[in-house]
Amino acid sequence: MVNQSVYTLLMLELQAKGVTLVAVSKTKPVEDIQALYNLGHRDFGENYVQELIDKQAQLPPDIRWHFIGHLQSNKVKYIAPFVHLIHGVDSFKLLKEINKQGEKNSKIIHCLLQMHIAKEETKFGLDAQELNDLFLSPELPLLTHIHIDGLMGMASFSDDNMLVQSEFQYLKSLFEKYRYLQTASDSYRNCKLQTLSMGMSGDYDLAIETGSNMVRIGSLLFGARVYP
Ligand SMILES: *Cc1c(COP(=O)(O)O)cnc(C)c1O
Repeated sequence: MVNQSVYTLLMLELQAKGVTLVAVSKTKPVEDIQALYNLGHRDFGENYVQELIDKQAQLPPDIRWHFIGHLQSNKVKYIAPFVHLIHGVDSFKLLKEINKQGEKNSKIIHCLLQMHIAKEETKFGLDAQELNDLFLSPELPLLTHIHIDGLMGMASFSDDNMLVQSEFQYLKSLFEKYRYLQTASDSYRNCKLQTLSMGMSGDYDLAIETGSNMVRIGSLLFGARVYP
């Protein structure tokens, strides 16, 4: 079930602040997605490749699908034809595979690099050194079918606001550090960091205060998820 009044209020706030809402619909039925679609929403986020493919086939073609989960290289080919933005790119190997599939589909696939900002070991992502190495890689300019649009991160699952805020601030500082790359030289034609994807149901306020311009919100809109 979609909470329409929560959605309407949230959209008013986010639009005023220039923040894009990715409605995270993982585990939720296509009817819920269609209900938000009917209210005019187009950006939806999914975590699992098979679930995304199934839903994409049943829903309107102008939905902008965001892949926000952990993506395995061997599965990129299934989502490459239609995906709008891949948020969880956490290795050069994955970036190369996305580029290969972009080439096969004659399109440029837009990506965010996922940074590891939380204390929890279980979360995925690059560290600052790996991010720097990626931007300095001589192979990066050769990837003509990807575009790096920005960074994504997940803060610790914690009610310690200071901790969560400091993690968001760290991600924001990395974003600031690299956001002028494209103007630096021709070798960064496939990079322009404009999107900072951080903030979920429990911490989106803090994320926006800290400079996020894309939030990924699921349970607040669709209700708590029940895993079978
Ligand atoms: C599930 C998920 C979300 C949404 O989480 P909620 O707390 O339900 O808003 C956001 N981002 C990622 C990467 C997720 O996996």
